[in-house]
Amino acid sequence: MKEDYYEVLGISKGATEAEIKKAYRKMALKYHPDKNPDDKSAEEKFKKAAEAYEVLSNADKRARYDQFGQQAFDGNGGGFGGGGMNMDDIFSQFGDIFGGGFGGGGFSGFGGGGRQRVVKGSNLRIRVTLSLEDIANGVEKKIKVKRKIQAPGTTYKTCTTCNGAGQVTRVTNTILGRMQTSAACPTCGGAGQIIDKKPSDADAQGLKIAEETVTVKIPAGVVDGMQLKVTGKGNDAPGNGIAGDLLVAIQEEEHATLKREGDNLHYDMYVSLPDAVLGNSKEIDTVTGKVRIKIEPGVQSGKILRLRGKGIPSINGYGKGDLLVHVNVWTPKTLNKKQKAFFESMKEDEHFEPKPESSDKSFFEKVKDMFS
Ligand SMILES: [Zn+2]
Repeated sequence: MKEDYYEVLGISKGATEAEIKKAYRKMALKYHPDKNPDDKSAEEKFKKAAEAYEVLSNADKRARYDQFGQQAFDGNGGGFGGGGMNMDDIFSQFGDIFGGGFGGGGFSGFGGGGRQRVVKGSNLRIRVTLSLEDIANGVEKKIKVKRKIQAPGTTYKTCTTCNGAGQVTRVTNTILGRMQTSAACPTCGGAGQIIDKKPSDADAQGLKIAEETVTVKIPAGVVDGMQLKVTGKGNDAPGNGIAGDLLVAIQEEEHATLKREGDNLHYDMYVSLPDAVLGNSKEIDTVTGKVRIKIEPGVQSGKILRLRGKGIPSINGYGKGDLLVHVNVWTPKTLNKKQKAFFESMKEDEHFEPKPESSDKSFFEKVKDMFS
């Protein structure tokens, strides 16, 4: 879904801080929106470079990125929260890159004069329900989204209130003297442009609703409540603004037989009295299909069989959880005459007396084991 940050900036994984800064400076100058008006691909590159720089210029974030990749910065699960930069973030980042004075660079409306605010479209939120199997294996979901897009045929003109600056300056007389304040232009909302012509099906901002199918790649190991971000698939902004994001909230469907606990899974296996005594084998559910497991003769009720790696993969790529199979010996509630006679005859048999050995761990030891 995302390009590698090192590739975006055209540097090696071992790049020094100075090299990262230099590479970003080059990219920012090349793809700056003022130099590439109305060029969406340049704007995309400009934003990508800023995003890459934002992460790689911070030792902490860079270490995290090197270890976990993009995952660490998407959604809430990774711990960074929805990262996403808007143009304001990007411009404020320039301070330390270009050392304040943008000087002689020849960028219009940047530095001295009031720069235009890039308007971002609103985010869209949807919920996607996933089975435990989808979560265990990762899945690609095609989701129909109703999003606002720029209506074809809409044209824009420079805002006459601010003359395209996006800002208006007010001068007021106070007892302390003349005060000058700048604010976003009330007519264009800071974009510097207003609508000239629009088709009849467009709203006041020149947008209209369209249905689009968005492919969302969901990595294995996501957790209920986690939010993934699809950049640029929210509502479009009018004019030269940028689209908002599509935020995808994960909802986990309850599984019929498997219970999830972090990356581990639990399964209750019921074993008949004869199977527990004589041994057998039994099919159980796993997230990758049915698996036949062996029941040893003399298995005790409460025993936990651990199937390593049959749980859920860690979202951070730390391997997989286990499947813990809990043995429950099923005691019949009613017996016929013949069965009753058999058990009656065993009552006095010393062989049926419970004699727990040290290998038959107590309940508390088993719980301790389970979490180790
Ligand atoms: Zn304006």
